[in-house]
Amino acid sequence: LLVDGSVRRYSDGSFAGHIGAAVDITGLKEDEQRKNDFISMVSHELKTPLTSTLAYIQLSKERVSASNDDLTHTMLTRTEKQIRKMTGMINSFLNLSRLESGKIQVEPVEFDLGALINEIRQEFMATISSHKVIFHPFETACILGDHEKIAQVIQNLISNATKYSAKNTPVEISVINRDGEVEISVEDKGVGIRQEDLTRVFERFYRVHDFETRNISGFGIGLYLCAEIIKRHGGKIWVESELGKGSTFRFTLPVCGKKSS
Ligand code: ADP
Repeated sequence: LLVDGSVRRYSDGSFAGHIGAAVDITGLKEDEQRKNDFISMVSHELKTPLTSTLAYIQLSKERVSASNDDLTHTMLTRTEKQIRKMTGMINSFLNLSRLESGKIQVEPVEFDLGALINEIRQEFMATISSHKVIFHPFETACILGDHEKIAQVIQNLISNATKYSAKNTPVEISVINRDGEVEISVEDKGVGIRQEDLTRVFERFYRVHDFETRNISGFGIGLYLCAEIIKRHGGKIWVESELGKGSTFRFTLPVCGKKSS
C-alpha cells in the first residue's frame, strides 16, 4: 500500500485535519517483478550463444596465428571486440534487473585497494590502445567493500571516459587516501557534461542528447548502477565537469576499521 498525504492547518497554524490518498500497488509491483524476470531471462538466453561464439573466435585466432594470416587475425580480433561489447551491454541489463529485484547484495570484506587497481590496470593495458590510460601512483589502503562490485564501478568509469573522449587523449586514475576514507577519481579530456546534467547522469536510463554524444551508443544504465553500488557501500559519487574540456568522476569508500557517515 502506498500512502501519501499531508497535514492541513488553519491560517492561525492550528491543526485542521489530514488529507491524503492510499493506493494499492501490489499489482504494479508484480508487473515490475515480471518485467525484471523477463529482462533477466532474455539476457541469459542472449549470453549463452555469445559465450560459445567468443570461444570459437579465440580458438580460430590461435589457429590463424600459427599460419601467419595477419588479415584474418585482424578481422577475428575486431569480431571479438564487438562480441565483448555486446556481452557488456547484456551484462548491464542483467545487473539492472538483479538490482531492481533486490538480488544485488553488497558483501563487504577487507581488501587491498592497491591490488585491485593493479588488476584493473593490467586488464586495461592489455585491452585499450585508443587512449593514454594513466594510473597515478598512490599510497595503498585497506578497503571495506565488495571487491567485484568496486572493480565494476572503476571499469565502468574508465570505459565511459574512453567512450566520451577523443582517441589518444589521456584518461587518468588517481587515489587520494584521507582519514577514514579513500577517494578514487577518473579524469578525461572529453566532451564534458553541462552543469544541469551533472546529477542527472546518475539517473536510470538518463542520457545526454546533444551534438557531441548523439552518435555514441548506450542505454544510460552504467552510472546508475555505479551510484547504487557506491550508495550501498556508504560512499558518495559525483562528477565535476566543464563542457568541451572534460570530466572527473569521483567516489569515496570507507577504509577498514572506519564506518562512513
Ligand atoms: P551510457 O554511456 O550507456 O549512456 P551511462 O549511465 O554510463 O550510460 O552514462 C549516462 C550518460 O552520462 C551518458 O549517456 C553520457 O551522456 C554521460 N556521460 C557518462 N560518462 C561521461 C563522460 N566521461 N564524459 C561525458 N559524458 C559522460
